[in-house]
Amino acid sequence: MPEIWTTDQPFGGPVTDTPVIEIRNLHKAYGPLEVLRGVDISAPKGHVISLIGSSGSGKSTLLRCCNLLEDSQQGEIVFKGEPVIWKGEGHNRRPSDARQVLRIRTNLSMVFQQFNLWAHMTILQNVMEAPLTVLKRDRAEVEAAARGYLDKVGIGDKCDAWPAQLSGGQQQRAAIARALCMEPEALLFDEPTSALDPELEQEVVKVIKALAEEGRTMIIVTHDMKMAHDVSDHVVFLHQGQIEEQGPPDVLFGAPKSERLQGFLRSTV
Ligand code: ADP
Ligand code: MG
Repeated sequence: MPEIWTTDQPFGGPVTDTPVIEIRNLHKAYGPLEVLRGVDISAPKGHVISLIGSSGSGKSTLLRCCNLLEDSQQGEIVFKGEPVIWKGEGHNRRPSDARQVLRIRTNLSMVFQQFNLWAHMTILQNVMEAPLTVLKRDRAEVEAAARGYLDKVGIGDKCDAWPAQLSGGQQQRAAIARALCMEPEALLFDEPTSALDPELEQEVVKVIKALAEEGRTMIIVTHDMKMAHDVSDHVVFLHQGQIEEQGPPDVLFGAPKSERLQGFLRSTV
């Protein structure tokens, strides 16, 4: 894999005080099952937040609530200081402004465990699709940007390949290029390396590290404690839909206070 890009330019200018995304006292249930029980998280611009916790603790749900892919029943979701406007209450609560939903969703680009590339489109078409159809951007500009992002993640030579012709690590890097091509305010990763063999995992970790060094705002759900330690400014340990412990990675991993977190960390090594 070619060397990725240099990191002398922080992405998006100086760190500001208004978080890109902030969640306050969020409650989310699937029917009677309470999955999030009063969660607060905040992703300041240029910061990397990792979410860790056992399977079923609510990590994916929390990530999906951030960009309004899931409804929630109580609590606030604030994008760059702009609170989501709701209509209805409890299980009937929905965002009321479709343009606000679109703005938030296109600004919080998601990268999934299973890549979710469109099988019937080439890699280049995959990266160009949403900027063209959702953002209605100029085709020549989008193509130039898409090629640039594919270069950046080290697969500039795969533009005309089909997803099935790529390794898992290459497909995930294409999915990251696709997310970047939306020029989002933040990237949301849901277990980006979990579907990969260990030798392919590292090429994706390397891209995520480079994005962190570039100053991208990211929320990363991961089972990879080494990556969480190396890339994060802040780590959040979720247990049964509540934050059990959180802090800077050196403190959280080096001196975990809660017995649950200690047990979780023992189980991951
Ligand atoms: P994690 O990502 O930490 O493994 P999830 O957020 O996926 O956890 O799931 C949290 C809980 O919510 C689990 O008990 C899971 O079974 C449940 N859950 C997730 N998605 C749905 C759904 N669409 N319908 C019903 N229950 C769900
Ligand atoms: Mg999950």
